[in-house]
Parts: sequence; C-alpha cells; structure tokens
Amino acid sequence: MRIPDDKIEEVRATVELVDVAGEYTRMKRSGSRYKGLCPFHDENTPSFTVDPEKNLYHCFGCKAGGDLFKFVQEVEGMSFIESVRMLAERAGVDLPEGDAPEESDKRAGIHHALRFAANFYFKRLMRSDEGEAALRYLHERGFEDDTIKEFGLGWAPDAWDGLLEAAQEEQIKPETLEEAGLVKARKKSDGYYDRFRGRIMFPILSHVGKVLGFGGRILDADDDAPKYINTPETAVYNKRRVLYGMHQARRAIRDAGKALLVEGYTDVTALHQAGVETAVASSGTALTRQQIELLGRYADRIVLLYDADEAGVRAAMRGIDRILEESLAPYVVALPEGQDPDSFVFERDAEAFREYVEEHRDDFVAFKYAQAGREGQLDTPESKAEAQREVIRSIAQIPDRLTQDTYVERASDVLGVPDIHLHEPPPRRAACGQRAATR
Ligand SMILES: [Zn+2]
Repeated sequence: MRIPDDKIEEVRATVELVDVAGEYTRMKRSGSRYKGLCPFHDENTPSFTVDPEKNLYHCFGCKAGGDLFKFVQEVEGMSFIESVRMLAERAGVDLPEGDAPEESDKRAGIHHALRFAANFYFKRLMRSDEGEAALRYLHERGFEDDTIKEFGLGWAPDAWDGLLEAAQEEQIKPETLEEAGLVKARKKSDGYYDRFRGRIMFPILSHVGKVLGFGGRILDADDDAPKYINTPETAVYNKRRVLYGMHQARRAIRDAGKALLVEGYTDVTALHQAGVETAVASSGTALTRQQIELLGRYADRIVLLYDADEAGVRAAMRGIDRILEESLAPYVVALPEGQDPDSFVFERDAEAFREYVEEHRDDFVAFKYAQAGREGQLDTPESKAEAQREVIRSIAQIPDRLTQDTYVERASDVLGVPDIHLHEPPPRRAACGQRAATR
C-alpha cells in the first residue's frame, strides 16, 4: 500500500534531521549549521553538515547529501518506504498498516513479520490470561509496567502454533516467519512450528528501534530446556552488529560520553529502570569490533562490568584489547562476588550501584597488572617482565599517539618502570612465537 503524501510530509515536519544524524555521529553547532564526522566515509575532521532550517545534510568530503529519508536509507541500507515507516514510528505519526509487503522485498517482509511478532508477544503478556504467570513473575522480580513497555517485553504462549496461526490470519506466510527466525520447519512432515514457546520475550532492536530478533527466557526453571534461546542469524539479524538496549540507551550514552557494558537482558532492563540508562549488553557473543564501532558513534569510554570469575576476567581481557584497537578507552569494574547488576540494583539501589562503579573502576593498565598479580605472575622477575610487556602490548594497540603517551605515563606509575623503557613496545609477533614455543 502506498503511504499518503501528507503523512510523509507530516513525518518530515516532525522529525529533526540533526537529531537523527546525532544518533550516528556526534553533531556540534557551528554557526547556523551542525557539524560532525561523516557517517558515510572515514575522516578525522568533520565535513558532514546538517542545515536545521532546511532539514538537509551535506558532506563536503564525500558529497553525500539529501533529506531526512535519504539519510536513513543510506545509513541503514533501507528502502524509501522502510525509512518512512521507521521515522513515522519515531515521530508518533500513524501510517496505514497496509498489506503484508510484496514477497519480492524479502527484508521488508521479514521486518513486517518481526514487528507483528513483537506486538503479538507483548499483547499476550499484558492482556491475556495465558500471560498472567509471566507478568506476575516479572513483577515479582521487580520489573514495572513502564519498563516492560519501554523494552517491549512479551510472552510466547506455550503452544506449537500460537504465533504461526495469528500471523497467518494477517496474511504473513510461514516461509517469511521462518526467514525471520520465528518458526521452524517440521522435519518429518509438512508445516512449521513456533520457535519460542512458553518464554518471556525480549525483543532485540536495532539502535534506531527496528525489531531484529528476540531472546526468549524460559519461565519454568525446572524445565530441561535451555534457559535462553535466541533468534538465529537471519537476513536482518546479525548478532555481532547489535547491542541489546542500544535503542533505549543511545541518548544517555551520548550525553554521558560513556557506555556500561553488562551481560544479560535483565541486567540492562533492571539498570535502566533504576536510572542507569547507559547500560547495554552484547547478547550471545563476546564483544565484537562492530559493536564497539557502534558504541564509538556515541561514546569514547566503555566501562566493562564483569563477573569476578575466570570466564568473566578472560572476557574482560579480550574486550579491553578490542576497545583499544577502536581508539576508545576501556574501564573495568568487577562485580561483588555472587552478584549481578540485576540483583544489585534491586537489593540496594541505583545510587549504591553508581557509587560502587565509581569506586571500583580500574583503567586497563591497573586491571591487567593487578590481574597478573592475582595469578602469581609478579612473583618471579621473568614472569613479572612478561606481565609488564603484556601491558605495553595493549598500549601499543592504541592508534592515537597522544592517548598512547598518557597511558605510558600511567603504566610507568603502576608498573614502577621509567617511561623511557615503556615507549618501545616489543614486537607482538616475536612475543607470540615465544609463548607458542614454551607451550
Ligand atoms: Zn562524507
């Protein structure tokens, strides 16, 4: 169905391009315009401008330019219609729902199916008898209705064809549901069945708010089924590129210049509810380069909140080096033993949580060296030197020379080694070879 012109104009008049662009790159006022680093090409000095009067953008570097819709199409790789739908949702402009999109437009079909599913699950949770137990469980865990709404939590009925049937009534084909990761094909007979059954649903949104997939948490803890299942990779969902909670967190992250990286869906929702709105989670994957890039559009610091167990420390170590490579500043905070952020903010409060993070925040130099100490690596001169080299190698990952220098100074303090010995990092390759040889 065509979108009426007056609706398109209403969206254009309501949404400020500078706000939308500000979600992809930090925009600063410069005279009558706004300037920022171009989201379409690599650059170090801003040549991307937005004219807030005309609601148009132009880049002097790569010559990209156009209006609100063009910007979203280009930056999100969407069709015109998709860009209008996305911006209309944001502006609160109601568009005619229309028929299911043409099968030829596969991605649009998948997005349509996902949007439908998110609505379906949400209504099942909030307005049906079958969702009652799940809603009670969420309330008992301390989640308020506003949070449930903000994150669009839902309930997948404990049935083989709950979603399947409802979607077919809306002319959404099972094949499209399968492509969206919502149903699976039966192996021994024809037909499909719901992937998510008897689960609390956490929609995974793109940072601009499109439903890309779901995480589903089992309600009945005695069940043998895995606690969480997630949407598999699809044409629209690539878990390496998405951070859970980014859509809700992006403004707070931009304002604070930093992001708080936590483990799970409920950590994110609990922290947001408590007022710690910079929390996001990399769901189902170790922190990836693409996720750090995404955060880098909004922030220059990433605080990793990790479990003080072995797996948690290893994940933090890996995260640190990735973050450094992307020219962001990593900080780490170990959680008190046996606690997760979710239980922490519910048992105590947001203020206590913030204080804890402030007090226990380590920069990576201190963290790596302290960790070496905990592992007994500082006990012999040889292993101590290796621990120092490890820190220096991390510093060498930082692309920006000035930042490197400040960390060299910091390392000099922490390691008790004169600066002069820190400036020439040992070649990484030789060091790796050495380690491989001793294994
Ligand atoms: Zn450009």
